[in-house]
Amino acid sequence: MSMQNPVFIPGPTNIPDSVRKACDMGTLDHRSPAFARLFKPAVEGVRRVLKMDEGEVILIPSTGTGGWEAAVTNTLSPGDTVLAARFGMFSHRWIDLCQRHKLDVEIIETPWGEGAPLAAIEKALRADKGHHIKAVLATHNETATGVKSDIAGIRAAMDAAGHPAMLFVDGVSSIASMPFDFAGWGVDIAVAGSQKGFMLPAGLAILGVSPKAIAAMETARLPRTFFDFKDMLASYAKGGYPYTPAVGLIAGLAHAIDLLESEGLDNVYARHHRLAEGVRRAVFAWGMAPFAASPDLYSDTVTAVKVPPGCDGTALVQLAASKYGMAFGVGLGEVAGKVFRIGHLGMLTEAMVLSGLAVAEMCMADLGWPVTLGSGVAAAQEYYRGTIEAVALAA
Ligand code: PLP
Repeated sequence: MSMQNPVFIPGPTNIPDSVRKACDMGTLDHRSPAFARLFKPAVEGVRRVLKMDEGEVILIPSTGTGGWEAAVTNTLSPGDTVLAARFGMFSHRWIDLCQRHKLDVEIIETPWGEGAPLAAIEKALRADKGHHIKAVLATHNETATGVKSDIAGIRAAMDAAGHPAMLFVDGVSSIASMPFDFAGWGVDIAVAGSQKGFMLPAGLAILGVSPKAIAAMETARLPRTFFDFKDMLASYAKGGYPYTPAVGLIAGLAHAIDLLESEGLDNVYARHHRLAEGVRRAVFAWGMAPFAASPDLYSDTVTAVKVPPGCDGTALVQLAASKYGMAFGVGLGEVAGKVFRIGHLGMLTEAMVLSGLAVAEMCMADLGWPVTLGSGVAAAQEYYRGTIEAVALAA
C-alpha cells in the first residue's frame, strides 16, 4: 500500500483533497465565456486575501521567482536603482535576479536571522535626495531563516523619508498564512506563489499590482514578453488571457480561497500562529532555539531550528526522509547544516504537527543528539491542549 505522511517543508505544502479535485478538470476552451466565469472568482478572491482596495491582480503560469521577475521587468528600466536588505537565501535570490536584469541594487547587508532593518532603510532613502531609488524590495517572510519582517514599518520608514519609491513585497511564504495588508501597507506589488499558503501545486505566480506600479509600466524599459502585465490586462478586459492559461490551477485557486474564507482568514492566521507557537515550544523543550534573532521576528509559517554544536541539520532531514518518510527543510546557503526547517503552513492541524515533532525527535535520538524522546511533543501538546479551537477543527 502506498502511504504518505504530511510534509513539513515550507512549501510546496500539503494539498487538500478538494483542492486537488478542483484542479482536476476536463479541457476548457480558454477563449470561451466559460473561462471568464472561472477566472473572475480567482482574481476577486486574491484581491480579498491580499486586502487590495484598488489595482489589479495578475495570475501567471509560473512560480514565485517568475513573480519577482514580472514585478521588476514591468516597472523598471536598466540602470534603475532598487533598495533591498539581504538577510537570507530568498532576499539574496531576488537581489541576484535584479542584478542579472542590470538594475543597480543598493544592498543593505543584514545578518541572517534578523529582519528588514527599518532604520537603515529610512537612512538610505533619506540619503537618496535625487530619488534614484525606484523601488524598495522587501521579503515579508524569509523562508530560509524563519524570519518575518515588518512591512508596515517599511512603509512608515518610506513615508518618514518622504520618498516616492514603489514598495515591492515578496509574500511567497506569508500570503494566505499570515496577515497581509496590501492597501494598508501601501504595497505596490505583492508576489505570491500557488504552492504555499494557497495549498495548490506549484505553477502559478500570483501578484497584486497597485495603480502606481501599473502607471510605471508606461515608461519601464526592461524587456518582457511572457510576463508583460499590459498584454495580461488587455486580455483580461476582454474576458480572455494572452496565452494558454493554467486553467486547472486557476479553478483550484478559486476553490482554495473558498476554503480559506470558509475557515475565515483571521482564523487561518490564528491557526498558523498556534501551530507555530507549539513548534517553538517544542524547539525550546529540546534545548534548542529558533534561528530568528528575537521573538518579534518569529515566522508563523516556518521555523529554522538551530541545531546543537556538533550536530548536522541536513543529516536529520535526510534520515527523516529515508527512514520515516517525512519531509523537513534543509538549511540553505550560509546556514546549511546549522539549521533544519520545520514548515508549518497550509493544510495542517495541531495533530499533524505533533506527528512531525515526534518524527523529528526520533531522528534526533537515532543521530545521538542530546534530546529526550517526547520532550518537544509534550511541550507542544500542553500548549495545544490549552489553545486549540475545537469549533474550527469540527468544521
Ligand atoms: N520567495 C520566498 C520567500 C520563497 O520562500 C520562495 C520559495 O520557496 C521563493 C521566493 C521562490 O519561489 P518559487 O520557488 O515558487 O519560484
